[in-house]
Amino acid sequence: MTFRDTVGHRRLLGLLARAIKSGSLPPSLVFAGPDGVGKKRVALTVAQAMNCLSPVEDAAAGLRDACGTCISCRKIERGLHPDVKLVAPEDNGSIKIEPIREVVGQTAYRPFEGRARVVVIDQADLMGEDAQNALLKTLEEPPLRNVFILVTARPMLLLDTVRSRCCQLRFAPLASGEIATALMARHGFAEREARAAAALAGGSLGRAIESATGEMAEARAVATAILIEATRAADARGRLAVGAALLQTAGKKGKEKDGKGQASDRGALAVRLRALSSLLRDVTLLTTRAPEQALVNLDLRAELEPVARYYDRDRLVRAFSAVGRALAALERHNASPKIVVDWLAFQL
Ligand SMILES: [Zn+2]
Repeated sequence: MTFRDTVGHRRLLGLLARAIKSGSLPPSLVFAGPDGVGKKRVALTVAQAMNCLSPVEDAAAGLRDACGTCISCRKIERGLHPDVKLVAPEDNGSIKIEPIREVVGQTAYRPFEGRARVVVIDQADLMGEDAQNALLKTLEEPPLRNVFILVTARPMLLLDTVRSRCCQLRFAPLASGEIATALMARHGFAEREARAAAALAGGSLGRAIESATGEMAEARAVATAILIEATRAADARGRLAVGAALLQTAGKKGKEKDGKGQASDRGALAVRLRALSSLLRDVTLLTTRAPEQALVNLDLRAELEPVARYYDRDRLVRAFSAVGRALAALERHNASPKIVVDWLAFQL
């Protein structure tokens, strides 16, 4: 792991690399931002850059990066460095006070072999109140050569007293182009598949990798076909057919996959609805003549342009919000998939 190989976050990585080079990195940090954008990896890269035995430096720009290959970098990568501690939630989903007490206790000693001890607390919002309180004094005044990085997608769940003692860095969602590029370069995705996965990942490389399978690409294909169909279906019968197509495909695939029937129908339908939402957003952009690179589903432009001619602004707004409501009904209110698609078919 190195800053230069990290996907996205260029400005923020520049800040960190400069602060490490100049020795001005704040010792208590919160890395906040959505899940799956690389916060924990960047925290561990900070640990590497601080402890690297042959750091890569750019004197003119005042940057220091890790080499990624020395013994120190490799130990950190493999979780074996005695001065770099990763605290993560236990199986029950919480971070107890004991591991926090342990890392706090260690700060009484000098780092064993590195230049700096770096403690990374992943999903720090899962610390109980007692665990957070046990950290307070250390966060306020960490002993020299100790850095604490609290990683969280939900910084608002940290105690105010914890947050106020830390310097918070906000990680933004990744651009879909960045995700697609990373999927192709590092995870062996074909371009079409990578773009499909990136389009549905909501700025999270982690989510893209997790769920990027043929299912995602297929969801997008189904959603595209449905959108085209919706521009043609004028009467009620045609509309219901649109809804049925959305559900049928989803249901069939869900059942084949894991035999859970209803539950997986729901999951597969939700993936298709997200695809639909992403396509409608692009259709909106096409009607406003936005720059081409703003399109998330750029590779489907030829299919979406004819759709854009059928949709005026009002219809787009209505369709877009209907898909959002359908998703909420399905996922939050446990509505029947059939009722959801029958309703949605008349809103597109
Ligand atoms: Zn190194």
